[in-house]
Amino acid sequence: MVIESNPSLQSYNSFGILARAQEMLRVSDIEELQEIVQTPFFKERAHLVLGGGTNLVLTGDVKALVLKVELKGKRLVKEDETGYWVEAMAGENWHDFVTWTLDQGWPGLENMALIPGSVGASPVQNIGAYGVELQDRFFELDALDLTTGKRFRLDAAQCAFGYRDSIFKHGSKRHPGDFASRVSALERPPDQRANAQRLLASSSASLPIDLNLGLANRALITHVRFFLPKKWRAVLEYQDLQKKCLMHSKAQPSAKEIYDWVCDIRREKLPDPQFIGNVGSFFKNPSVSSEQCKDIIAREPSLVHYPLLDGRYKLAAGWLIDACGWRGKSVGMAAVYHKQALVLINKGGAENPCTGGEVMTLARAIQTSVYERFGILLEPEPMIL
Ligand SMILES: Cc1cc2nc3c(=O)[nH]c(=O)nc-3n(C[C@H](O)[C@H](O)[C@H](O)COP(=O)(O)OP(=O)(O)OC[C@H]3O[C@@H](n4cnc5c(N)ncnc54)[C@H](O)[C@@H]3O)c2cc1C
Repeated sequence: MVIESNPSLQSYNSFGILARAQEMLRVSDIEELQEIVQTPFFKERAHLVLGGGTNLVLTGDVKALVLKVELKGKRLVKEDETGYWVEAMAGENWHDFVTWTLDQGWPGLENMALIPGSVGASPVQNIGAYGVELQDRFFELDALDLTTGKRFRLDAAQCAFGYRDSIFKHGSKRHPGDFASRVSALERPPDQRANAQRLLASSSASLPIDLNLGLANRALITHVRFFLPKKWRAVLEYQDLQKKCLMHSKAQPSAKEIYDWVCDIRREKLPDPQFIGNVGSFFKNPSVSSEQCKDIIAREPSLVHYPLLDGRYKLAAGWLIDACGWRGKSVGMAAVYHKQALVLINKGGAENPCTGGEVMTLARAIQTSVYERFGILLEPEPMIL
């Protein structure tokens, strides 16, 4: 076990914020991690699981032991007449994985091309883009309970996916004990595993989010498996993709064409973190009742809004921020991106980077002005540390 002391985290967070970790452990072997988790060294420390650092705001040095996930590998698990079951280990780069599945001739993930970060983090906030969310293609995942070192498996219902949300973002309140012993421990016989799964499923009945079973900061996801059906259907509901269809006179584009279009659209709209530090959308798109939506439209007819299945409306957070005049504004070296008000950027680059404090001051000022004008409290999407 090699523990790095006092490493810089600047290249491990896509904002490029200057911060250090007290200690960092690179996780490339699950069995080794299982052993480490049992040691007094590990038990005495708080820990932070780190993937690509593309959804984090560091507001200071990290006192916890950083577990940098570097588990690599991907494979076809199974194929039958209905589809492909594909697996990737947590440390694989998400976009490279999407590209690889398409290269193999297994479509389904193309709308989520070019989302930065790791496969292991993808279920944490149920990543999504251009009309497809991770949960639409997810089959199951394996994880390790960092309190016991035991491995367990969760299906989609057990992950309690929601809009940019999952059980991995919520803490455990009722069961501080051994979570994995109640879930499907991989080493157990299948009949016991099924029982444990039933137990968890029944105790998850009140989901989408049962805080009692939360796994925030408790589980390290090691493998994620996807089901990609052979009956593939293009998802083209998003306006940007419809425009591409018209522009290319293609009513039935292939998965590879959609992948290329999504990459083009994203490159056009979003800053590349390699050159301009950012974490993508800084706030979630809020949902409001139809009355509240009508009320805002009466005052602001150009409000960008989408109906949801439950009768509520999702509002474009970027539009709300823009309407409050924030585009291009800054606090120190933290700024609102001039092309997309939903994205906060580090305008100082690596040499003179913004601080986490500047980012959060800007974010709070935006929240206040949106609240004062629309009565809506925007919720940050990234993890604030
Ligand atoms: C330019 C840009 C565009 C983006 N566009 C989108 C988008 O379209 N859609 C979208 O959904 N997101 C988007 N994001 C956000 C981000 O890409 C995703 O949230 C991504 O999944 C984060 O992956 P990561 O490996 O960098 O996670 P990190 O930032 O390292 O971690 C994020 C959270 O996941 C936890 N975590 C990481 N790995 C594991 C693991 N193996 N096991 C358990 N917990 C883990 C961390 O502890 C942390 O809480 C964008 C970000 C950027 C910079």
